[in-house]
Amino acid sequence: MIEPTKIKFSKRRKYLSISISINGEIIVKAPIWFTEGEIYQYLEKNKNWIQKKLRLVESEREKIIKHTFTEGEEFLFLGKKFRLKFVEPDFCYIDVNNLITLKEDRLIVNEIAKRSIAKIIKDFYKRKALEILEERVKYYLNEYETIFKENLTYNKIQIKENSKVLGSCSRKGNLNFSWRIIQAPLDVIDYLVVHEITHLKHRNHKIFFWSTVARLKPFYKSDIEWLRNNWLAINQFLRD
Ligand SMILES: [Zn+2]
Repeated sequence: MIEPTKIKFSKRRKYLSISISINGEIIVKAPIWFTEGEIYQYLEKNKNWIQKKLRLVESEREKIIKHTFTEGEEFLFLGKKFRLKFVEPDFCYIDVNNLITLKEDRLIVNEIAKRSIAKIIKDFYKRKALEILEERVKYYLNEYETIFKENLTYNKIQIKENSKVLGSCSRKGNLNFSWRIIQAPLDVIDYLVVHEITHLKHRNHKIFFWSTVARLKPFYKSDIEWLRNNWLAINQFLRD
């Protein structure tokens, strides 16, 4: 028998829905008039789908890396793996203000930053995310102008601290991105940028939206595939 983790009744809800959280919880949302017996019956009827989803979540969860910040540990940046390396405080090629840098296949951190390493790495990723996303947005707005002979404008680019979505475009024209996306290959980041700037023109996911995305980024389907396979691990990075 399938046991729901949580059942939420709501007056406004018209249909029953089941969802599986990233922690493998089975969440049922039900209209107020449903009885528990009916809910259990519904779960039983959808047993195969639920079990398939649970297995999927489980295999996704296996990809999540719990960082312990030991020397040699791997960190993903622009789709490449970098190994953590601590260096002596007087080591010359790290900027003292930054305390952290990428060099060859290393993520090099000054030893004096060891105590606040999670924060140092997070801040570094956020800085880089803003830098790279600003540059890519500019690039694709130019591309858009060249292809469609139209100028798109946005309000501002915001790097979101704890967002579960990797990107969004608000009604005010703010382009929001999770800093965690900077772990993805540049192609995937570009797809996300293209997706969000296209929303400045098309505020939906209908045919004109997708044909615009395809003009700007022809092979975007493999980027979506990458996101589908990696979003959970990306999204859980350095989350407490
Ligand atoms: Zn969208």
